[in-house]
Amino acid sequence: MYSTMQDVPLLISRILTHGSTVHGQAQVTTWTGGEPHRRSFAEIGRRAAQLAHALRDELSVSDEDRVGTLMWNNAEHMEAYLAIPSMGAVLHTLNLRLPAEQLVWIINHAEDRVVLVNGSLLPLLAPLLPQLENLRHLVVVGPGDRSVLDGARARVHDYEELIADRPETYDWPELDERDAAALCYTSGTTGDPKGVLYSHRSLYLHSLQVNTAEAFALSTRDITLPVVPMFHVNAWGLPHAAFMAGASLLMPDRFLQPAPLAEMIETVRPTIGAAVPTIWQGLLAELDAHKRDVACLRTVVIGGSACPPALMRGFEDRHGIRVVHAWGMTETSPLGCVSHPPAGVSGEEEWAYRATQGRFPASVEARLIGPDGAQLPHDGTAAGELEVRGPWIAGAYYGGAQGEPLRPDDKFSPDGWLRTGDVGTLSPDGYLTLTDRAKDVIKSGGEWISSVELENHLMAHPDVTEAAVVAVPDDKWGERPLATVVLNQGATIGYEDLKAFLGERIARWQLPERWAVIPAVPKTSVGKFDKKVLRRQYADGELD
Ligand code: ADP
Repeated sequence: MYSTMQDVPLLISRILTHGSTVHGQAQVTTWTGGEPHRRSFAEIGRRAAQLAHALRDELSVSDEDRVGTLMWNNAEHMEAYLAIPSMGAVLHTLNLRLPAEQLVWIINHAEDRVVLVNGSLLPLLAPLLPQLENLRHLVVVGPGDRSVLDGARARVHDYEELIADRPETYDWPELDERDAAALCYTSGTTGDPKGVLYSHRSLYLHSLQVNTAEAFALSTRDITLPVVPMFHVNAWGLPHAAFMAGASLLMPDRFLQPAPLAEMIETVRPTIGAAVPTIWQGLLAELDAHKRDVACLRTVVIGGSACPPALMRGFEDRHGIRVVHAWGMTETSPLGCVSHPPAGVSGEEEWAYRATQGRFPASVEARLIGPDGAQLPHDGTAAGELEVRGPWIAGAYYGGAQGEPLRPDDKFSPDGWLRTGDVGTLSPDGYLTLTDRAKDVIKSGGEWISSVELENHLMAHPDVTEAAVVAVPDDKWGERPLATVVLNQGATIGYEDLKAFLGERIARWQLPERWAVIPAVPKTSVGKFDKKVLRRQYADGELD
């Protein structure tokens, strides 16, 4: 029997309209390095309408056209986030830290006709322009040296001039909620990058989920600080969710170093922030060195790679800030699970829950698959590859304008679940504990060693800033762990001490024989440990 309920499409334009009217007083504050720049949600809504008019009437952007953004987190990026999908086009966020050839590949694959670019990023984009086949219009946002664009084939526009004097309302079309709203490419650690096309429906449902108490519970009482870039899985859904909930936003723009982050937190007083561990590690060191008033932060969300428990405890014990660990990926929008412990636990038991990747919401189903393809029990012990499905989980990758969606066998199961490439366990009460990425696990003599576990122990040592463990080939065992460590300034500790420290915490056969002290762990374009680089560096198992 069919229901009798209305079937109203879940659209980004609804988030835009609601946020800019009901929550018109909420603000997007952009950090500028000087006086913060503030713009109300009402103004953002008006300017989003002006942008949509400009894109349609002046630049002939029509349905399904991809519009790229090469931008930091700022108010104008928020306007693009809302305007482009709402008018029926596709917002394509570009990762400004990708190597040039990947950026060119992605822009060409998506066939971006228009790119919005922050003036400060023109030196990065200008040399690529001759290779961008479809680009017709470049819209420059904010100050920057435009002379680098001399000779560009694309027409160059100034964002403010382009939107000025256009109508402040727009008759947003009633789209199909399954239409594509946004496009984000994975960083292409293996092969070409792959595009995930989010729908209006998936982004809308994801925003609702972000705002539940079991996730981040954004409300009008919050100021949200997405340090995670808007080009990295939609800043984990926070901009949309905040606009929906009326939670103000603090956008860090290009000021992502520990000192300016500490300063903006003290000045604008956000209540919740989100970023990968390396960013928070830097901020923790900054706060330890220079006392700041950061009591405003009720929650710090850490995800994107495993959060070392020592980092969680450091924030809580020394600064009274609660860290919430979360898991997700580009293909999962990204939530994913969030590590809120169940009611009634305390002390070490609570810490054990908080160190897990957390629980999935009702909308996302998870299962574990063993090496023989059989499903494993959720008993907290059996470890297998995590597969997920749900209304905001990718079912395929974008195949290009002419191509069919791509469903590579290593990414999607025959029955359509997403293969995450992450290995771990699920407890009977639903908590996910990841031991590793499948490709990072160290396979030693038929046993698996979790690189993450070794790293977490090492990073709990007071003299260690960062630790990354990778597999190196070994004649006898197949693979063995190699531990690379970054020591605190002035620390003189030796490998034998570190080995003894580890020896008290893990089985002897897991102890690395090979060690290297390095100045910094190489990072990927989204700030995660780049183990590929380390593996390449130590491919022969020999130390430099
Ligand atoms: P990239 O491949 O560029 O890192 P994503 O941002 O999509 O792209 O990364 C998703 C992956 O990041 C996950 O598959 C997982 O391996 C890792 N990850 C994300 N969050 C966590 C977490 N909390 N703990 C461990 N690993 C995580």
